[in-house]
Amino acid sequence: MKHVLVIGAGPAGLTAAVAAADAGARVTVLDSGTGPGGQYWRHLPPERPSRREARLHHGWSEFERLRERTERDGSIDVVTEAQAWAIETTGGATVHALIGPSDAAGREALALEADSLVFATGAHDRTLPFPGWNLPGVFSAGAAQALAKGERIAVGRRAVVAGAGPFLLPVAQSLTATGSTVLGVYEAARTPALAKGWLPRPWRLLSSARKGGELAGYLAHHLRHRVPYRLGRAVVEARGDGRVEEAVIARLDADWSPIPGTELTVAADAVCVSHGFTPRLELPIAAGCEIGPDRFVTVDDDQRTSVDGVWAAGEITGIGGVDAALAEGRVAGHLAAGGDRSAIGPARRRRRASADFARRIEAAHGVRPGWTAWMREDTVVCRCEEVAYGALLGTAAATEQGSLRSVKLTTRAGLGICQARMCGRTVEELTGADPSRAADTSDRRPLAAPVRLGDLAGLSSKDDPQKGEH
Ligand SMILES: Cc1cc2nc3c(=O)[nH]c(=O)nc-3n(C[C@H](O)[C@H](O)[C@H](O)COP(=O)(O)OP(=O)(O)OC[C@H]3O[C@@H](n4cnc5c(N)ncnc54)[C@H](O)[C@@H]3O)c2cc1C
Repeated sequence: MKHVLVIGAGPAGLTAAVAAADAGARVTVLDSGTGPGGQYWRHLPPERPSRREARLHHGWSEFERLRERTERDGSIDVVTEAQAWAIETTGGATVHALIGPSDAAGREALALEADSLVFATGAHDRTLPFPGWNLPGVFSAGAAQALAKGERIAVGRRAVVAGAGPFLLPVAQSLTATGSTVLGVYEAARTPALAKGWLPRPWRLLSSARKGGELAGYLAHHLRHRVPYRLGRAVVEARGDGRVEEAVIARLDADWSPIPGTELTVAADAVCVSHGFTPRLELPIAAGCEIGPDRFVTVDDDQRTSVDGVWAAGEITGIGGVDAALAEGRVAGHLAAGGDRSAIGPARRRRRASADFARRIEAAHGVRPGWTAWMREDTVVCRCEEVAYGALLGTAAATEQGSLRSVKLTTRAGLGICQARMCGRTVEELTGADPSRAADTSDRRPLAAPVRLGDLAGLSSKDDPQKGEH
C-alpha cells in the first residue's frame, strides 16, 4: 500500500487526501493550523462555539463532507498543529515537523518519509506598502477576513477595503456582517484592465458558474449595505496619531500611479489592504521543485512537479480560488496514490477551467509598476526591521550591489521575524532583483517556519525516523 504525505489541510490538501485514500493509499496529512479547512474554512475557538459556524463561509457542506470522510476513514490520518519546518532530500525526501501548539516549547518532533508527497500549502496575501501602512489599524485584508471568519471580530467600526482582486469583495462582506461600516471598496484596476481580464471568451466563465453566484451574492450584499465599489483607486496614505484615523484615497492611472489632485481623505479606524496573493514556496523550493517565472510551483496537467514523486495543488500552483484548489487536489491525490488517470477526467477538466480563471485574475488585477509613485523616502518597506524606502534604494545604489542577498545584508530588509514573507516581493521589485536566480528570491527559507533553538537542539535525540509511523 502506498503512503502519501500531504502537507496542508486546506481545500486542496483535504481533497487530495480523500482522493489518495479512494485510490487505495494510506494518507498522512500535516497542517500547522488548529483544525482542518485552511484559509477558506475557518473555525470559531472551541470555547466560543456556534450552531451557525457556517455563517460567512461558502461551500461549508463540502467542508463537512471532507472533514467527516477524513475522520471516518481509517486510512487517513490528519495531524493538526503539525508544522512542517524542513525537508531533507538526501536519500529520498524526509519531512520534519513539530507537533504541538504553535510556538509552544517542547513540541514533539516527527520525521516522515512517504512514497509520494503532495504540497498543498496555499498562499498568503500580498500587501504593497504605502505611507502609514505600519500604523495600528492597518490590516492585510486576509488578516481582517481571518478575524471575521475565525473569531467573529470586526477590525474596526469604520473600515476602508482597498487593493486589487476579487478577494476584496468577501472581505468587505465579512466586515459588514461582523458590525463594521465599510466606507468603500477601492479596487486599483481600472475598467480597461478588468475588461481585458474578464471579457474575452466569456463562455469559458460558464464553468466557473459557482464563482459567478458567489459574486452576485457579494454585489447584492454591498448594495443592501450601501458599500460603494470604486475602480482605479488606491489608499495612498494612512494617517493618525498612534493609530489610523484617516485614509487618503487617490485615483490611479493605468499603471497604478496616483493622479495628482484626486486625493480624498476619509475618517476611518481600519484600513484593510490586499494586492493579491503570494504562494508559500519554502517547502517546494527545499524539495528542489521548479518554480516558474510567475513564481508558482511548476506542475504539468497531472499536478506533477519537476521532482519525481512530488505533486502540488492549490494556491501554490496559481491563484485560481477554491474551485481550482478542489479540482487540483483531487488530481494530485489520486495520481500520487498511483491511481489511473482515466478515473479523474472531470476533475482534470475542472482544473483546466480553473487555470483560465487564474489567468483572468492576473490579467485584470495583477500589480502594475506605477504604485511606487505613492511611496515616500520615509515610508517603511520592511516592517520587522523598520527599513525605509529611501534607505533601501540609497543603500542599494551606494553599494552598487544588484543582488537581493547583499541588499538584505546591508539594510536588513527581510531579515526580521517574518523572514520577508511580508516585504520580500516588494524589496525584490524595488531593487530590481531577478527572483528566478537563487540568490535573488526571498522565497528561499531553509527553515519554513520559526523554530525554537531548544527544539532544534533536541532534534538529534528526538527526531527519530521511527516516529514516522504516526
Ligand atoms: C488569510 C486568507 C483568507 C482567505 N479567505 C478567503 C475567502 O474568504 N474566500 C475566498 O474565496 N478565498 C479566500 N482566500 C483564498 C483561499 O485561500 C483559497 O481560495 C483557498 O483556501 C486555497 O486553498 P489551498 O488548499 O490551496 O490553500 P489554503 O486554504 O491556504 O491551505 C493551506 C494549508 O496549508 C497549511 N500549511 C502551510 N504551510 C504549512 C507548513 N509548512 N506546515 C504545515 N501546514 C502548512 C496552512 O496552515 C493551511 O491550512 C483566503 C486566503 C487567505 C491567505
